[in-house]
Amino acid sequence: MPGPFPYESFTSDRLPAWRCPACLNASLVLVPGSFTTRDTADSLRHRGEDWYTEEDDREVFCCMLECSRADCRESVSVAGTGRGMIDFDEQMRKTGWYTLYRAITFVPPLPLFRLPDACPEDVKNQLETIAALIPVSLNAAVNALRVTLELLLDELSVARLTDGERPKIIPLATRIRDSEATLGEHFAAFDALKDLGNHGSHTNGRIRRSHVEGACLILDELIQQLFALRPDHAKMVATLKATYGKK
Ligand SMILES: [Zn+2]
Repeated sequence: MPGPFPYESFTSDRLPAWRCPACLNASLVLVPGSFTTRDTADSLRHRGEDWYTEEDDREVFCCMLECSRADCRESVSVAGTGRGMIDFDEQMRKTGWYTLYRAITFVPPLPLFRLPDACPEDVKNQLETIAALIPVSLNAAVNALRVTLELLLDELSVARLTDGERPKIIPLATRIRDSEATLGEHFAAFDALKDLGNHGSHTNGRIRRSHVEGACLILDELIQQLFALRPDHAKMVATLKATYGKK
């Protein structure tokens, strides 16, 4: 992964050091004057009532970011929500309040995975989908992660359909189990990521953010091992052997 999970909450005067989707540097800056907020209808309706405090404040926001590198200048639109938070001093006395924002959509998505040139386009697109979905829904994101495993198995020439006149779709668990020899050292990673993906696909049970972050680290490493070009030293090894080895 190019950096830590980039989805932390923030205040409007201190945006996170988001990485640029185009050049991968932490060079996105707020376009001056673009940060816009509005109160939700619920906040407008109830503000002023006895029970209403600053913590009940809810907002929506949008803003525009741009890459500050002169040779890039990528633009990213961001939208999300805000909620009121109360500040306390050490004696737990209220000293003020502020709005904490959470971004839900980034267009284009923030870069979450290293994408080697040899990584197939459909896998790259699926990885971008995971990155886009994480701030929206962790369950939807791990469902997309499950689809990525199917695509990676396709790349490894693991059959997706049964033989015969009426081919049937082979379940992901079976594809993984039957290709343990092909997957080799990657088998355990595929198997564990499949379990997480199934949880997102088949239940609405809660998924821990830290588990999704860990799964993305594993997936990123898998992508590197499967598609990153490695230096080939075979020719120099042969030359050294021929030149200096015992004849
Ligand atoms: Zn850039």
